[in-house]
Amino acid sequence: MEYRRLGKSGLQMSLLSLGSWITFGHQVDDKVSENLMKIAYDHGVNFFDNAEVYADGKSEMVMGKLFKKFKWDRSTYLVSSKVFWGGKLPNQYGLSRKHIIEACNASLKRLQVDYLDLFFCHRPDKNTPVEETVRAMDYLINSGKILYWGTSEWSSQQIMEAYSVARQYHLTPPTMEQPQYNMFHRERFELEYKRLYSEIGMGTTTWSPLASGLLTGKYNQKLKEKTRLGLPEFAWLKEKVLGTDTEEKLSKVKKLIKLSTTLNTSLPVLSLQWVMSNKNVSTVILGASKENQLKENLKAINTFSQYTPEVHDMVEKILDNKPRSSIF
Ligand code: NDP
Repeated sequence: MEYRRLGKSGLQMSLLSLGSWITFGHQVDDKVSENLMKIAYDHGVNFFDNAEVYADGKSEMVMGKLFKKFKWDRSTYLVSSKVFWGGKLPNQYGLSRKHIIEACNASLKRLQVDYLDLFFCHRPDKNTPVEETVRAMDYLINSGKILYWGTSEWSSQQIMEAYSVARQYHLTPPTMEQPQYNMFHRERFELEYKRLYSEIGMGTTTWSPLASGLLTGKYNQKLKEKTRLGLPEFAWLKEKVLGTDTEEKLSKVKKLIKLSTTLNTSLPVLSLQWVMSNKNVSTVILGASKENQLKENLKAINTFSQYTPEVHDMVEKILDNKPRSSIF
């Protein structure tokens, strides 16, 4: 495993990590979750990603039971949660001081840990002053309940605002962002955030590296097995992932499959290495519903040296979507 610092912080994260969205407590049973976590940990993965909203808290409960069962030394792994979508009643969602503190306490209970290594504001909250959110996060840091705090899918302007408020009042600034980053979704990561990496030392824990499976090539075939984009309760996600340019995406995936075959690798591995090759990525959060998927994806580490600048150029040529802008 390769380890990278979370931005300019001292925290070392495995370049590949494991998330539990859609899978733990929902799509897969607890035995599969157990095997996935064990495989990951045995391969040197040290970060497990979670959120209060994943399977309405069940995902954290499953992970918490497993931490207890594995008895891993607490210093050997990092666990996160995210606050925003708790319940539906007033004060059960958003980034008010009340919800942030209550959500953190509830996640600690479900995960059966004394502190969270990383705690994210899952989305921005237009209805709460950013100073209230920053103060609540600073309080959690000072009370030892969380070690690092950050944001997920905030604009660069919103991140800078939180950063400035923290600096103004001598509070702990956000140190990380959790953005989507993959071959088909790259503009914000590569352009909008560009200055934040050097100016505030922002680390990134990136999500959906395989665009929910699209970048494995599986949706270019007729499938018999159940897949994420076939889950009726996630029809909205299918629409988002495939977008209005489905044919164009599938055609690029077809070319990428060809390229990966020529290179004697697989498309999931190539797609992950493309993400890993960006130095502003601190860790790539993997998702997997089956053990063989995770094992395949973890191969991206051992063969990373084969992902040369020449290979990168060949991929870029197929993608033909490098974001360009004079604004950022
Ligand atoms: P991916 O884009 O990698 O999608 C993972 C899914 O793709 C798997 O569950 C599986 O779905 C399929 N898959 C993965 N590997 C393979 C393979 N080798 N062959 C075939 N199919 C494969 O990542 P996720 O979207 O799951 O995101 C990863 C993590 O990021 C999440 O678990 C979560 O922790 C975090 N996240 C954070 C968000 C945020 O807002 N902060 C939002 C979304 C995710 P299947 O078998 O069901 O088809």
